[in-house]
Amino acid sequence: MLVRVLGSAAGGGFPQWNCGCPNCTGVRNGTIRATARTQESVAVSADGRGWFLINASPEIRAQIESFPPLHPRGPRHSPIEGIVLTNGDLDHCLGLLSLRESYPLVVYATERVRAGFTEGNVLYRTLERFPGQTTWRTLKLGRVEDLTVGGGAPSGLTVEAVPAPGKVPLHLEGAAPPDPEDSVGLRIREVATGRVLAYFGAAAGVTPAVRAAVQDAACVFFDGTFWSSDELPGLGLGTRRAEDMAHMPVGGPSGSLAALAGVRTPRRILIHVNNTNPLLRDDSPERAAATAAGWELAYDGMELAV
Ligand SMILES: [Zn+2]
Ligand SMILES: [Zn+2]
Repeated sequence: MLVRVLGSAAGGGFPQWNCGCPNCTGVRNGTIRATARTQESVAVSADGRGWFLINASPEIRAQIESFPPLHPRGPRHSPIEGIVLTNGDLDHCLGLLSLRESYPLVVYATERVRAGFTEGNVLYRTLERFPGQTTWRTLKLGRVEDLTVGGGAPSGLTVEAVPAPGKVPLHLEGAAPPDPEDSVGLRIREVATGRVLAYFGAAAGVTPAVRAAVQDAACVFFDGTFWSSDELPGLGLGTRRAEDMAHMPVGGPSGSLAALAGVRTPRRILIHVNNTNPLLRDDSPERAAATAAGWELAYDGMELAV
């Protein structure tokens, strides 16, 4: 399975337009050792011809242009055979609206995520301009779905949604009671080899289901949003702790590195990194600690053969 990281930052990207935190200021001015990142999206393929995107970021147009295998091979064509959404946060699905140029889209999402994006959203009509413009394929927790190409042929990949502790998007808070299908992890399996990519870009905790989903994977991407619970308050950027936003911190005794310490997945990669995170500094002690624990930090343009 071929994997290309198109974007590796959390919502807002790095730097974020309205952020003057030390990281954002430093990367703008070139005074810290860090690399700018766009918002989280990952492309996967079994054969290098048909591709599936995990999440559709607001920067999807530039992300597609950044990777030639995603370019058209005909006057009206796209090698993007489907888009898999992990939740309805705008940094994960706003890019769908940028794919409005009259081309059929196939979107894999839970019913909750589909409803949250489509219902009461007048802008969604731009993706319903002709019959069949957007096809939704329903992800159910624990059910394996074929990822298909060309309208139904096997792609060589399957996807399974795994419950991941999370929450509804900010703009839907209070609209409906929380549901396990609000935010999911993914297991993408290559049929020919049985190799699995486990994807948890957002996780408020490591449950037994999460642990089981990453345990036998060949590669795991995991929530790298915040290093510490009080990262934003500590920088004077509001009052919300990491847990308030349904992200477990990476560091500390209750962080993901500690919780996943026994997992020996060959490739372990942190993604969805918030611009405030000290992991973004190549020479930070936090980055050194993650590296020592066997974790890599995703960057835009990272490629893997899983
Ligand atoms: Zn996000
Ligand atoms: Zn910042």
